[in-house]
Amino acid sequence: MNENKNSILIVDDDTSNLMELSHILRSDYKIYAVKDGANAIIKAKESLPDLILLDVIMPGMDGFDVLVELKSDKRTAEIPVIFITGMQTNDKESEGLSIGAMDYIRKPFDTKVVKLRVSNQLKIVNLQRELQNAVKMAEAANKSKSNFLASMSHEIRTPMNAIMGITNILLQKPQLPKDTIDALGKINSSSNLLLDIINDVLDLTKIETGKMDIAQEEYDLERLLIDVININTPRLKNKPVKFILEVDEFIPAMPVGDATRIKQVLNNLLSNAFKYTHSGEVTMDIAYEPKNDGVMMEFNIIDTGVGIDHEQLKILFEDYARFTTELGGVTVEGTGLGLPITKKLASLMNAELSVESTPNVGSKFTVRLPQKTINDKILGAEAAENLRTDRLPKDPSIGFVRKKMPNASVLVVDDVEINLYVTEGILEPYELKVDMAANGLEAIEKIEAGNTYDLIFMDYMMPQMNGLEATTLLREKGYTAPIVALTANAITDKAEMFLQNGFDGYITKPIDIKEVDNVLNKFLNSHISH
Ligand code: ADP
Repeated sequence: MNENKNSILIVDDDTSNLMELSHILRSDYKIYAVKDGANAIIKAKESLPDLILLDVIMPGMDGFDVLVELKSDKRTAEIPVIFITGMQTNDKESEGLSIGAMDYIRKPFDTKVVKLRVSNQLKIVNLQRELQNAVKMAEAANKSKSNFLASMSHEIRTPMNAIMGITNILLQKPQLPKDTIDALGKINSSSNLLLDIINDVLDLTKIETGKMDIAQEEYDLERLLIDVININTPRLKNKPVKFILEVDEFIPAMPVGDATRIKQVLNNLLSNAFKYTHSGEVTMDIAYEPKNDGVMMEFNIIDTGVGIDHEQLKILFEDYARFTTELGGVTVEGTGLGLPITKKLASLMNAELSVESTPNVGSKFTVRLPQKTINDKILGAEAAENLRTDRLPKDPSIGFVRKKMPNASVLVVDDVEINLYVTEGILEPYELKVDMAANGLEAIEKIEAGNTYDLIFMDYMMPQMNGLEATTLLREKGYTAPIVALTANAITDKAEMFLQNGFDGYITKPIDIKEVDNVLNKFLNSHISH
């Protein structure tokens, strides 16, 4: 019972006042009593009372001095103070209130008034405490939710790697019946959608936990725009929609910012424009204005699509707001997380994202993005013209030719058997010599036994010895051939971490066949048979 009682520190140099107040309050509260300012401060720091009743006029430190001192210490600053005063002047009262006193009680004491003033103040204290606890619990719950989501999306990547990898392996086989190709194509696109959802959830989690860092690096704007166009134009394949790209040729060619996040923002907006437009045009217009240390870039993505009505517009950037799940009988794929993430990414980059839209007429999304510049290089007329014209629908995932490298040998290190099966299958068309190891230790043993490899694909998380340890050890032993990490960990920002730790590159799971192709062409270039 005693434990739940609020505690009060009473400070007064007059013993009879101390006794009287103690007497009034003793039955309801735990009381500490001291007779001067210096002791008041010592006691307050030691016992952290819920409330302090403080006499104003005392020899030595007076009430005002004590209050100022209490406010200057983090531990005692929030303890409410009621002044005990015999003074009748409002002047002094306002002085006390202005430096942080909560209330006044007057001598001679009126028992009822004292009790009420004290209990009112403590009600506030207790409510604040409950609120703080609620906030703490909500934060803890949010954190554990985020951690849960992060580890789940990691776990989901292994089976996703199998589903997507095996689908790709089967699609590589020659002369498949058409219905099989169709079915595999559907598995492929559903897997890609599922992966998008997982990545969205992961991004939201990263943003919520403050782990989404924004890079400040020089990037090639033309390259960035080509990537964005290549990813999105395949969506136009069968639609009577014209894609128009206009870019100011004087825009800086190498701005400083976060290319990955800018791509993500533009991808989201452009893919929506393509998704929700059935005929007419989608325009991406890129302009800029000079700013003191760089430029304000403006990206306008304008479509003649279904549009968004007034009510939807109001909640467009809120999490989980999903509207048009059905368009003319066709369900449109998506999570409704794209725009909230886009908005959050934009604000992390100090960019503004705005939208105007009219139902059945179209929408215009605008991103105003401040970017620094460290050189004067401009995009130029030729690049601007290329971007404007070189935008035929391309599907980057199909139709690339795998070069044969029969003289090259590759070691794949992974503890999950199905991952080995998938990587081996993806490598098969290259006709490489493929060897496998189940963990880092086994990989090192193979190399020490005299086996040589032109390239190692090294899983990151493995029992016995993980990829990082194995690579560090190999490098210490003087091993110089390229090692590329395979990772299902999408939370930590990887690029730098891998490159700093002896890896020559990394591929995230589920493994993208195009990325594997890039890696093989880069590191096994001299082994390509012609
Ligand atoms: P998703 O497209 O995955 O559902 P988004 O957050 O990207 O999620 O978009 C949320 C909703 O906003 C979409 O479902 C759609 O109704 C609407 N929307 C977004 N962009 C457009 C657009 N360009 N034209 C019409 N509606 C759009």
